[in-house]
Amino acid sequence: MSKSLSKLPSGSRLQRVFDCPASDVLPDYSQHDSTVHSKPGSFRHDAVENAAIKGLSITVDGVDYSPLLARLGSKFESETCYAWNIVTQKGRSLGTKDREYSGADENESCSTIDYLIVHDDYFELIDLKSGYIQIEPDTWQLKQPMLAIADHLGMSKGIAIIAQPDRDKVLQLKEQHYDAMMFDIVKVDLKNNWDNYLDQTAEVSEILRMGLQPKVNPSPGTCHFCPAQLSCPDRSEAFAMITGDNTAMTNTTLLDAIVKLGKIEQALPKLKKYLLAETIARGGEVEDDTHKIYVANTKRRYITDEAKALAAIPFEQLDKIAPRRIKLSLADKQGVDLSEFIEVKETQSLKVKTVK
Ligand code: SF4
Repeated sequence: MSKSLSKLPSGSRLQRVFDCPASDVLPDYSQHDSTVHSKPGSFRHDAVENAAIKGLSITVDGVDYSPLLARLGSKFESETCYAWNIVTQKGRSLGTKDREYSGADENESCSTIDYLIVHDDYFELIDLKSGYIQIEPDTWQLKQPMLAIADHLGMSKGIAIIAQPDRDKVLQLKEQHYDAMMFDIVKVDLKNNWDNYLDQTAEVSEILRMGLQPKVNPSPGTCHFCPAQLSCPDRSEAFAMITGDNTAMTNTTLLDAIVKLGKIEQALPKLKKYLLAETIARGGEVEDDTHKIYVANTKRRYITDEAKALAAIPFEQLDKIAPRRIKLSLADKQGVDLSEFIEVKETQSLKVKTVK
């Protein structure tokens, strides 16, 4: 068991590393910017929290969040951090918010919960999901903080809830109930999974050291946010299209792929510029038997200050104008004037028409 316990996977990573331990050892080549991924989720989370506090109803992206608001009431914790100690099997509140885990001990795995409601003799932990891949409440992402919170509160009853829209945009609240026996089962299960994870990751490290391919365990929910996708043997076929090398992505082939992709990306803008200049020089239009290519002047509006523009939209129109990000055409339709935050740029681009 060579793995250091000082940086334990957080609750949100536990399901993946338990399902596919190799994902925690394979090289992480992700360009993942968590703030980009979590932006729509954070926006939704903040909007729901705001509505709950103000007693308003809210629809985001076509989903009516009333069932969640009814459950939340106005007394709940949001975005707070809890830790579960794998060795001592004790839980505690870190007293921080929003993934601030710097005060965690070396054997603690941490989680940031979405919403926590504490009743007299039980608690409810709610996780808000917005993705289409349906998540069930028995995920380790919830089981780990359930243990931590129960221990911190000294309670033996709780409900883990996933609030997630289904494909028809109806918000579903999926529940898993815990009692003392259930907490004991999950505790033992977590310890067993953890030991297996340590053994497996040690084995995968050894396999990689020998230059061989480790076994991986792909599944859509697990692979979607995996940082090791680029180095995963299961993904080699997709990358073979770029590298022409149908083997697992090694350091060398990955580098080769990036170099080739980088060259194409660098070349494309130059090529576009050249073709534009060439088409203008030929009178703004070139045509063969099947296609006409012409230069179009396009005026585009850009938002200069997203935060200020967002604040200028009345709360009740937010969902209609900025379900994920601000859409100016929707602001026009809703009669909300954002011209103060708009800059207009004119660009020339090539369009292609099919000629009969
Ligand atoms: S992409 Fe999927 S199968 Fe590959 S390492 Fe990640 S989780 Fe495992």
